[in-house]
Amino acid sequence: MKISNEQITQVNTQIHNLIKAGSFYGKKLEEAGVSEIKDVDDFEKLPFSEKNDLRQAYPLGLMTAPEEDIVRIHSSSGTTGLPVIIPYTAKDVDDWAIMFKRCYEMAGITNMDRIQITPGYGLWTAGIGFQNGAEKLGAMVIPMGPGNTDKQLQMMVDMKSTVLCSTSSYALLLAEEIEKRGIKDQIHLKKGVIGSERWGEKMRKRISEELGIELYDIYGLTEIYGPGIGINCSYNTGMHYWDDYIYIEIIDPQTGKTVPDGELGEIVITTLVKEGAPLIRYRTHDLSRIIPGECPCGCKHPRLDVIMGRTDDMIKIKGVNVFPSQIEEILREFPETSSEYQIRISHLDGKDTLRIYVETNGSVDFADLSKRIAARVKSKIGFTPLVKVVELGLLPRSEKKSKRVIDERYE
Ligand code: ZN
Repeated sequence: MKISNEQITQVNTQIHNLIKAGSFYGKKLEEAGVSEIKDVDDFEKLPFSEKNDLRQAYPLGLMTAPEEDIVRIHSSSGTTGLPVIIPYTAKDVDDWAIMFKRCYEMAGITNMDRIQITPGYGLWTAGIGFQNGAEKLGAMVIPMGPGNTDKQLQMMVDMKSTVLCSTSSYALLLAEEIEKRGIKDQIHLKKGVIGSERWGEKMRKRISEELGIELYDIYGLTEIYGPGIGINCSYNTGMHYWDDYIYIEIIDPQTGKTVPDGELGEIVITTLVKEGAPLIRYRTHDLSRIIPGECPCGCKHPRLDVIMGRTDDMIKIKGVNVFPSQIEEILREFPETSSEYQIRISHLDGKDTLRIYVETNGSVDFADLSKRIAARVKSKIGFTPLVKVVELGLLPRSEKKSKRVIDERYE
């Protein structure tokens, strides 16, 4: 999805405002000698923005609108060092609510729904984003915030909540509690809007079945408004995102080059109309792809596939970008294997080799299982790995996912 002329005009306004304000990125653009772009090529030469730069702008270096226009800040939690502060104007807050309202509408939620919001309120963008969108829609909000399961379930029953907004892990916890307490017949939920974590098909199915609800994935990040910049429709063929507010490109995280639609890579987002803290080509480090073609629902907004992991996890092998979660998903299709696996990449005789070690018990034919897994990887990822099947209990156990991948090429 190449950037359109209209979007280029919007980007130019963003560049102009950044430079005029002399804010953190305004200065960076000035130093890079950028004042305007004319076409796609110019756009793809614009410097990226990174979370680490954003930290350097702490506390208010990103502020691009006059102080009297700033109505709020949000902050993204940094696991290390300084947090990132994002200032919002009243228009930014309103734009975000409009986008979120569209998300609810995409999920078939209306002003007759009762929306129970369990993500947290405060500096981060979660709870309040869900709330503003719901109010924009005209639905009734039950603003719970996280935790306190007893109260959560009491309100769900008494208020007859029809929509649950939650993380996937909290939705699962609530589903299990409802089951345990035997109160499923008192629950009126129809839909779940789930954000902020990567989750597999298995978990999705479990939540959906136990609560008897349809699930929708919502996408967003604090640096770019917050949750609500995209959501899947009922066809569940990826998340539609609002390309009149943001422009998304997918890049190869190693070369920084934009990849064609359909190819996997890192999501890079440019805000098109943001005032408080516009961002140009912000690297999210989330991995996904743009789904080519039109959605059967008829909606013209482009689609992103589900988030498949983080760029830090990615491995490049035989010219193909691979990440452990892809292999993990494939292994989950084989009930004969345990949840333990190990991936080893080596460089032998001028060739990259990927070996996958999996565990199983003695009741299955090791050679046959290995062949079937290799064939599945070939069909889903595009190359044939060496699959070694070992006895249950032979692979090292580790809390850390990263330990499962050993890249011997750089040792
Ligand atoms: Zn659709």
